Amino acid sequence: MKNNIYAKRWGKSVQNNYGVPEITLIKGRGLVVQDVEGKIYLDFLGGIATNILGHAHPSIVAAVSKQVETLNHVSNYYAHPNAVLLAEKLVSLTKTKKAKVFFCQSGAEANEAAIKLSRKSGRSHIVAAQGSFHGRTMGALSLTGQPSKREPFLPLLKNVKHVPFGDIEAMRRSITKKTAMVIIEPIMGEAGVIVPPIDYLQGIRELCDKYGALLVIDAVQTGMGRTGDWFGYEYSGITPDVITLAKGLGGGLPLGAMIAIGDSADLFKPGEHGSTFGGNPITTAAALAVIKTIEKQSLLKKVRKQGQRLIQELALIPGVSQVRGSGLLIGIEMEEAHANEIARKLAEAGVLVNAANSNTIRIAPALIVTDAQVNKFINIFRKVLTNGG
Ligand SMILES: *Cc1c(COP(=O)(O)O)cnc(C)c1O
Repeated sequence: MKNNIYAKRWGKSVQNNYGVPEITLIKGRGLVVQDVEGKIYLDFLGGIATNILGHAHPSIVAAVSKQVETLNHVSNYYAHPNAVLLAEKLVSLTKTKKAKVFFCQSGAEANEAAIKLSRKSGRSHIVAAQGSFHGRTMGALSLTGQPSKREPFLPLLKNVKHVPFGDIEAMRRSITKKTAMVIIEPIMGEAGVIVPPIDYLQGIRELCDKYGALLVIDAVQTGMGRTGDWFGYEYSGITPDVITLAKGLGGGLPLGAMIAIGDSADLFKPGEHGSTFGGNPITTAAALAVIKTIEKQSLLKKVRKQGQRLIQELALIPGVSQVRGSGLLIGIEMEEAHANEIARKLAEAGVLVNAANSNTIRIAPALIVTDAQVNKFINIFRKVLTNGG
């Protein structure tokens, strides 16, 4: 079998940091992907919240094709219209008077940029959440609140404190006048789609204001419309000092961004940070197409509607104990700790998801998911959970 052949070759030549994937995908359109043996899947993982418009979306194909045959890379010694247009667009989506964008390629790099930005305050202490995920590079890993990911790589950055997620009193005890930044995900994605109390972000904002710490919202997973808002914190009414983005931003192309808002927009001076590929004409062309399509097709409204339907209907399935999330970032918690087995059975039944932890299936389908695809997912999920597929 061809899937097995690629798995074997992967195992010999690709680092074993992920484990060996069982399925080799070769093409896709919308939410439908095909593996190397010709088997078709409904993609409800979306490259982990990354293929925000699905696979091979015509608007991205057109924008990237046009750019790749015009000009591929300019370096940061020269400007390119795409980077400027995208920065202006992202600033306008923050609905603030003043903000400035730094472009990079990934979520980890966006958070690294936020760490360095916060050092410009002269402070170095950081508060983050237990269970959080902020990336794997040494700085971002220092923020990540998961001991199993951190421990093989100690020592990490000093003075990073991890507090229980959703517990504002723990934040109150930890944020001081030494705190450079607090970093928080609006919804903890990798941890299993954990939603905090409704007034949590507001409470953190007040503490950051009181002590002069930067509030960094890690919107790498919740961003680009996934929750039905552009970044995922908007429901709280707060304005963060920094927003970090990646995953969905480039619609499948590698693009990350750190948006610094208000006074923090001017903290970096020339020469203090950089990235060779940051703001590359091709990846920024893709992101402009993503935002234009989301706006033109009023996808944010659709995301909310589809999300509500998924959350309501999945919660009724026997064996499901809780469905959490917002918009199209959803964690389906099951009574039994068999998420890995269920994910494998779903793949056999032609649906791609992932097991965020032993009890939780995470779904993050493209924002263009149709009613029929939502129905199909719910039916197959019910079948797999009730009779094992
Ligand atoms: C995926 C993720 C990251 C890391 O992004 P990479 O592109 O893998 O570096 C950071 N923060 C959150 C919330 C994420 O979901």
